[in-house]
This record gives sequence, structure tokens and C-alpha cells, in this order.
Amino acid sequence: MRRLGVLTSGGDAPGMNAAIRAVVRTACSMKLEVLGIERGYQGLVEGQFRPMDVRSVSSINHLGGTVLRTARCDAFLTEEGRASAAANLQRAEIDGLVVIGGDGTYRGAVAMIQEHGLAIIGVPGTIDNDIPGTFATIGFDTAVNTALDCIDRVRDTSEAHEKVAIVEVMGRRAGFIALASGLAGGAEAVLVPERPVDWEALAQSVCAWQARGKKSCIIVVAEGAASAEEVAAAIETRTGVRSRVTILGYIQRGGRPTARDRILATRFGYHAVRLLQEGRSGLMVGLGNADEITPTPLSRILEDKKGIDEELLDVLGVTAS
Ligand code: ADP
Repeated sequence: MRRLGVLTSGGDAPGMNAAIRAVVRTACSMKLEVLGIERGYQGLVEGQFRPMDVRSVSSINHLGGTVLRTARCDAFLTEEGRASAAANLQRAEIDGLVVIGGDGTYRGAVAMIQEHGLAIIGVPGTIDNDIPGTFATIGFDTAVNTALDCIDRVRDTSEAHEKVAIVEVMGRRAGFIALASGLAGGAEAVLVPERPVDWEALAQSVCAWQARGKKSCIIVVAEGAASAEEVAAAIETRTGVRSRVTILGYIQRGGRPTARDRILATRFGYHAVRLLQEGRSGLMVGLGNADEITPTPLSRILEDKKGIDEELLDVLGVTAS
């Protein structure tokens, strides 16, 4: 291995910059050259590469977003698009690739490995935390803390007005952000896509909270479970109780990465380069339950589905009453 490439792909997540920095600096420490690939697979197809050295990644650890930018690339879904990408990599004499992204990014990586025999290591970067094979993904902790900060603020104002508050957080397919931020924020209920919403039970809970004279009630809903407006309408129809709706949207993607995300991203970037240097490919670096780094085949990641944490749901169900 003499020269490697690094790219960020799919949805951006706070902490991706710390991963880029770690990849570049680890590679440089091993006397490897690094090319940064702009805008994910789009830059691979178009040959948008730039050399990166130790200094080029100074002072980026604390920045959200990604200095390499990211994109969704339709050309990469085709064999011709991937053949152009492979030709560009060959021309640039890149013998290994670190791809930072989610499962779509890994599907592209697996296709490149199968069709062109490239050495690729994946790093999990997505705020949703919905990647199997890792306890946490880069950006999840920051997104949870951003959502939590908003839930705390909503709690203040809903207490003052004695209203039901509904906070919609990101998570089209997964309820990890909703569950973690709801649990930490002391939400009265959390709705996740992994469980069908029981509207009657929710309405009964609202009535019970009101009967007990609770001053504030917060319901956190993942966008994939229902929209905040739907939840408000369902409660009003069944109970006559009106709610205040807050939709957090893209603020959850931005902001300074937390210490936890920066450390995780730095460890992932370091281990990704180590694996490439050892001649490994087709793996994703992940975080094990005992905080250790575990490589898992990308093919297995793509077959599995990460389930919502049942224990956290149970804890929430008891403590939120
Ligand atoms: P994420 O990596 O966050 O899941 P996407 O699903 O948008 O984000 O995937 C990122 C990119 O990966 C896509 O824009 C596309 O270029 C590539 N990709 C996704 N699925 C495939 C696939 N089945 N085959 C090849 N490339 C893919």
C-alpha cells in the first residue's frame, strides 16, 4: 500500500471531520500518501481528488459537516459509473479507500470490491445510529445532545403553559435518536418506527397525565413513526387536548461534534487505516459493547438490521409514568 483515498458519502454527520483527520494523520505516520475525494462517490466518478497532508487537516476536529463535502451520486448506482470511478482510482494510483457513510455507501463499496477488486474499509457515519455491527455511529451522540437541548427548552415553556408538547426528531427508519433523547429528557412518551403507534393507549395516557395534574407532558416522536402534526391531531380528536408542536429538522445534523463523537471518529479513522495497511478489505470498523473496536464484513452489515434497544424502551415505559 502506497497511496490511499478517503471520502465522506450520503448524509453528513458531526464528527466526520475528526474521522478524516485521523485517516490522514494515521496514514502520514505510516508514510502513506492520502488523496481526499470530494463529494463522496460523485468525486470518485468525476476524478475530483486533492492531496492531503498532516497540516491540511489542522483545526477541523471541532467542525460539524465535512470538509470533503458529501453528495448522493446516481452514476455510482450503474456499472458504467463505477467503472469510471475505478479508472480514476487506477490513474491516481490509489490502492486503498476509506469510505465514511451509511449503508448506501457500503452497498457502493461492496459493488466496487466485487467488480474491481479494490481494498475498501467502511467507517460508520450517520446521525441515525441504524448501522448493525456497531454500538454507535459517528454523529449520533451529537444529534442526541442537540435534540436533548431542545427538549429541555420545550419543557421549560410547556411547564409554564401547562400544555402537551410534541417534539419531532429525525429517524425515518430508526428510533434511536428519539429513544435516547426522550429518555434523557424525561419525556412522558416516545414513539419510534420500530413499534406501531397505539393511538388509543397514547390518548388514555394523556388523559391520565391531565387527571394527575402533571404540569408538562412531552411526547418525542421519530419522523418515521408519525409526524408531530399527526400526533397532535390524534390526541385532540380523542381527548380534546391541544398540543404544541416542535419539529427539529436539520439542526440535528449540524453543530460541534461532542467529545464522544470526536473520540469515536478518531478511533475509527485510525483503525480503518491500520486494517488497510494489514491488507484487509470489505470490513467496517465498529464499536463493540465493551468499547472495543471490532471489524465486521460489510456484506454482513448489509444483511442485518439493528434492532431498537428493548431494555431502554422498558426503562422508559416505567420511569416516564
Ligand atoms: P448513506 O450512505 O448515508 O446510507 P445513501 O443511501 O444516499 O447514503 O448512499 C450514498 C451513496 O452510495 C449513493 O448516493 C450512491 O452513490 C451509493 N449507493 C447507494 N446504494 C448503492 C447501490 N446499491 N449500489 C451502488 N452504489 C450505491
